[in-house]
Amino acid sequence: MSSLLIANGFIVTLNEENEFIEKGHVYIEDDRIAKVGDFPLDSVTPDRTIDARGRLVMPGLINAHHHLYSTFARGFTPPGPPAANFREILERLWWKLDLALDAEDVYYSALIALMNAARAGCTTIVDHHASPSCSDGSLDLIERAFREVGLSGCLCYEVSDRNREGEGIEENVRFLRKCRERDDDQIVGLFGMHALLTLGTRTLERCAEEAHALDAGFHIHVAESEDDVQVTFEKYQRRVMDRLLDFGIPGSRTIVAHGIHFEAREMDLLKSTDSILVNQPESNMNNGLSVTPILECLARKVLVGIGTDGMSSHMISQARALYLLQRAYRRDPRVMFGEACDILLKNNRAICGRLFRQPRGALTPGHLADVIVAEYVPFTPLDASTFYGHLLFGLSFAPIDVTVARGRVVVENGTVTGVDEEAVRARCLERARSLWSRIH
Ligand SMILES: [Zn+2]
Repeated sequence: MSSLLIANGFIVTLNEENEFIEKGHVYIEDDRIAKVGDFPLDSVTPDRTIDARGRLVMPGLINAHHHLYSTFARGFTPPGPPAANFREILERLWWKLDLALDAEDVYYSALIALMNAARAGCTTIVDHHASPSCSDGSLDLIERAFREVGLSGCLCYEVSDRNREGEGIEENVRFLRKCRERDDDQIVGLFGMHALLTLGTRTLERCAEEAHALDAGFHIHVAESEDDVQVTFEKYQRRVMDRLLDFGIPGSRTIVAHGIHFEAREMDLLKSTDSILVNQPESNMNNGLSVTPILECLARKVLVGIGTDGMSSHMISQARALYLLQRAYRRDPRVMFGEACDILLKNNRAICGRLFRQPRGALTPGHLADVIVAEYVPFTPLDASTFYGHLLFGLSFAPIDVTVARGRVVVENGTVTGVDEEAVRARCLERARSLWSRIH
């Protein structure tokens, strides 16, 4: 058994009592938190001690919707005139980029993004992957990157008819079978689908049949653009949630990403089916889309989480974007302060509770040892009543000095351990250049 002590830090437990310990310690055995508090240091015998004096210690963060494959788009401008709407963004950028990815691109785009996530204190990521030219085995490549960096992941492959009918079904089935056959909670799976606007009836039937046989939840974009709603209504005379219900897709382990254009009744259906809604505010703004009715969903007690949709791997800044966007959109400075922080810290934790066996997201004995140490010295009072202000206005800019994931120190002094960062960056640059040259 290995053990690690994080000593003398300002401990933000996010436990049930919401305890704040000004000078406290976190003791880790293997991949679990064993002890938290201001216990005498000589009561434990760690293999290793990290002194967190003058720094803030809190649970690792969770990203509930990411696209690691999008990493190499940074700085890339697709050929032709600028996309004028969401459909054109998909057609001119994402569907060309994902089609051009080869196996090495898939691996390196995941690896560098996961390194950045670890450096931003994110220790669990729910990913949604597409690489139609090399779909077979692509989730194994992403899994390899997760294991090398040391983070936890929930993976899926996005099925779509846009290139070939039912493309990606086999990869989901293969990967979910693999996950089911082994006793491992670091990497788990969902059945991924793109969005109703690129999925025909036959494909939806096949996805539903395969996923239900494997007892898997789904991960799908829904009502992200008006297009998704219109196409579904024109072709099938159904609202999007009704169409998903027709195939038994909603449920407690199903992630519905975006949900911007939901009617009140569809929000009721989210709740009555206990489905998970995950919002990506930066991505929605970037695509010139509208705003998810978060408060209306929260009022119905829908489990609402937050992801980055490939925009970054920085979760606190994403929660800050959610808070700012909703305030501006609603022209109401009273809303979304507590809600944005709860969504990041409590709801994403609850989502993981549905996808993984091991609890995480609080510094409490028995939880997965995902712990971060931020270079953050508060100069105003910090306690349970003020923490969210520190989170959105201070910690959002604080460097993460140490990230411990599953009991392993994966970032130290801001550097990813166990990976040759310089070599990975150099290889990514080569891969990105080559990828860009293949997109026309
Ligand atoms: Zn997405």
